[in-house]
Amino acid sequence: MIRLYISEPTPAFSAGLILPLNTDQGRYLTSVMRKGAGDVVSIFNGRDGEWTAEISEAGKRLVTLKLIEQTRTQPTGQGPVLAVALIKRGPLEYIIEKATELGASRIQLLTTRRTQSDHVKLERLKIIAQEAAEQTERLDVPEIVAPIKLEAFLAAPGVEVIVFGDEDSTHEGDARQTQPLLEVLSTLTNRRAAILIGPEGGFDDHERQTLRGMENVYPVNLGPRILRADTAAISALTLYQAALGDWK
Ligand code: SAH
Repeated sequence: MIRLYISEPTPAFSAGLILPLNTDQGRYLTSVMRKGAGDVVSIFNGRDGEWTAEISEAGKRLVTLKLIEQTRTQPTGQGPVLAVALIKRGPLEYIIEKATELGASRIQLLTTRRTQSDHVKLERLKIIAQEAAEQTERLDVPEIVAPIKLEAFLAAPGVEVIVFGDEDSTHEGDARQTQPLLEVLSTLTNRRAAILIGPEGGFDDHERQTLRGMENVYPVNLGPRILRADTAAISALTLYQAALGDWK
């Protein structure tokens, strides 16, 4: 069944509520998917769970839905936060899509000393997250937050714990030997955590020292090989969901 994320503000979903769709969604339903009055779709808005709704009007300019019944309640749990340094467009878009499928609740974009640019097409990334949420049958869409400096994120991460992928630890001779991610996760119980992944060039020494010196920041290794940032983000999120998250 077609799933649509309703991003516009609406009254709380209830049986019989009439919802006008925005132009893009109206056109997608009628022109692209060839749906018409009476056809049923599935909708969610991130707050009211998932509802079935029938197309009550399928005009050229206006398509409206009439809500039928709630089919899934809104989950309460909050997925992990992913804080990721800006990388090349392709791999970054790939991270947004996969992090959405893996249940990230927020994706905080970061600039660090080695990120090449500080510009992203934020609206495009939000659409990617929305489409991935519809496809993966989530009942919410991760918040994609415009890039801020690493230091600004560390000053107000919005989570209790930061687990940072420390690629430097793959080499021996590191004074503070980092732990494997799973080991650190098993000590976190149910505290809100963010996974922090650096750019293609990695964190620089000053950033690494800052991170290692912080109370609520845990450096972890993601195995003995250097992973690309997208591989690192996805594998860390996977381990997080399996160890602490909703992969029961
Ligand atoms: N400086 C590296 C590239 C960094 S990889 C190089 O020599 O090519 C991009 C990011 O992925 C890193 O900043 C780190 O957060 C994460 N990462 C990659 N491999 C990792 C590993 N084995 N352990 C921990 N983090 C890793």
